[in-house]
Amino acid sequence: MPFLTQLADVARRTGSPVTEVAGWRTRGHGPQPEVQGVVCHHTAGPAGGGDYPSLAVVRDGRPGLDGPLSHFGLGRSGRIYVIAAGRCWHNAPSTSPWHDNSSSLGIEAENNGTQPWPAAQRESYVRLCAELCRAFGLPASRVKAHREVNTAKPDPHSIDMNDFRASVAAIIKSGPDAFWTEELVRNLPVIRLGDDNYDVKTVRGCLFARGHVPPAAYADLPGGLRTWLESTVADEGLMALVSAFQQARGLGADGVVGPETWPPLLRV
Ligand SMILES: [Zn+2]
Repeated sequence: MPFLTQLADVARRTGSPVTEVAGWRTRGHGPQPEVQGVVCHHTAGPAGGGDYPSLAVVRDGRPGLDGPLSHFGLGRSGRIYVIAAGRCWHNAPSTSPWHDNSSSLGIEAENNGTQPWPAAQRESYVRLCAELCRAFGLPASRVKAHREVNTAKPDPHSIDMNDFRASVAAIIKSGPDAFWTEELVRNLPVIRLGDDNYDVKTVRGCLFARGHVPPAAYADLPGGLRTWLESTVADEGLMALVSAFQQARGLGADGVVGPETWPPLLRV
């Protein structure tokens, strides 16, 4: 997995306001190797100081621990701060293989460790976890409190995680998006170089609709764009455009249309 440059888009699907912190797309301790879980934290920052006074610490680190410390910050207002797209130092050592620094995403919610959680912040916390589960194909059970996957940690304080996960699961199940994504993607074929079938036409149509077919791709064809769109053959030219699309979306640019590439192509 590369740097996760789709994280801001995923955050916006919550409906919460989103701040993209300058430089987030290339910030990280190398790329994020995989996403198998989500870990919820509190910052233990100051009691006051505005919406997200811990931003500098989460982004830049603290003595003894270099930043970024987590992918997301969550302000008291519910605003989501997208801080990093690569690996972050938010949970080590982990008691779960799905929730260590290399396998999970971290969310650092502003809270001094004792103060009550504002309703808007708590609501946004649940929705962000739900959208992350949707985006990475995880069940709600993969959302964990830091204290559940690291016995030395207390955070996030006072949140009943079973309750929290039930809310996350309800959002994942609700709405047409989850159904669409799961059902559709499960039944779609994998398109590789040399394939010849009608699904290749779908790939062509989607690439064109997403603005990823330059005129040069069809300029020399008799019939031009129409001919290009109607071809059922996955030729080298098409697969190069697929690779470019994958790169632009932060996916592994393997030039194969599979379960990771169909959703952004179809916009499900
Ligand atoms: Zn923590």
